[in-house]
Amino acid sequence: MTDEPELALQGEIALVTGASRGIGRAIALELARQGADVGVNYSASAEAAGAVAAEIRDLGREAVVVQADISDAEAVTAMTKTVSAELGAPTILVNNAGITRDMLAMRMKSDDWHAVVGTNLTGSFLASQSVLRGMLRARKGRIITIGSVIGTVGNAGQANYAAAKAGLAGMTRSLAQELGSRGITVNLVAPGFIQTDITADLSEDVVGAVMQRIPLERLGDPADVAPLVAFLAGPGGAYITGQVIHVDGGMVMA
Ligand code: NAD
Repeated sequence: MTDEPELALQGEIALVTGASRGIGRAIALELARQGADVGVNYSASAEAAGAVAAEIRDLGREAVVVQADISDAEAVTAMTKTVSAELGAPTILVNNAGITRDMLAMRMKSDDWHAVVGTNLTGSFLASQSVLRGMLRARKGRIITIGSVIGTVGNAGQANYAAAKAGLAGMTRSLAQELGSRGITVNLVAPGFIQTDITADLSEDVVGAVMQRIPLERLGDPADVAPLVAFLAGPGGAYITGQVIHVDGGMVMA
């Protein structure tokens, strides 16, 4: 009888925000496939989050479903407490939850600005802060945030989204400097155009124009993003921190 080879993320505890669908779902499942137990955060879709947790358990891993609006500091604290109590303190955090509220700047309501910055930027900071105590105690941790190429190049109609995603790059570099000596790496994965609910409503014209700018000549899939996140979370990512890594078929080369 041969021993099963140890998986890269065996014994790790991951918390993935916005994990009920899209890129977050793909990441949660990939981390589980590579051996991690997973806290599956969702804001509204309890049923979909439950289905992701069931898939994780089918892979032989533990999963806990936690409802929390990540822009709400108290809810975030409670989310991390629940995961810590049920699975153990997270050693991997994936800040994935994000929203868009697109509008030209002239007509953008302050609510649309605050909602996007509050979820995408502040929410990712709050979730990062909530796992730090456990990671500092363990002297290890991986914080991986999902940014966007829009944070690098901007986009008409997305001043709120671009500002929040660019802010995440600054947050990532600062946390990486603050936490490097404690064995914690912090990186930003910046996807290009990935086919999910967030991009489903865009017109054929917009999608056609985007396609023109992708050297690999296809739109991305959540499965194109998840393996990079798992790599950064695993042993291969040990010496990578403070980086912004584009996963975009070559759309933005910078
Ligand atoms: P999606 O809309 O399918 O998924 C977003 C998830 O975040 C959903 O499950 C949603 O419920 C959750 N969420 C939203 N607000 C939340 C909150 N306040 N608290 C907790 N959860 C919340 O979209 P997606 O494409 O899978 O997006 C995932 C991430 O990838 C986002 O940060 C998005 O900005 C980023 N991204 C997506 C693309 C793309 O082309 N799809 C490109 C670049 C970056």
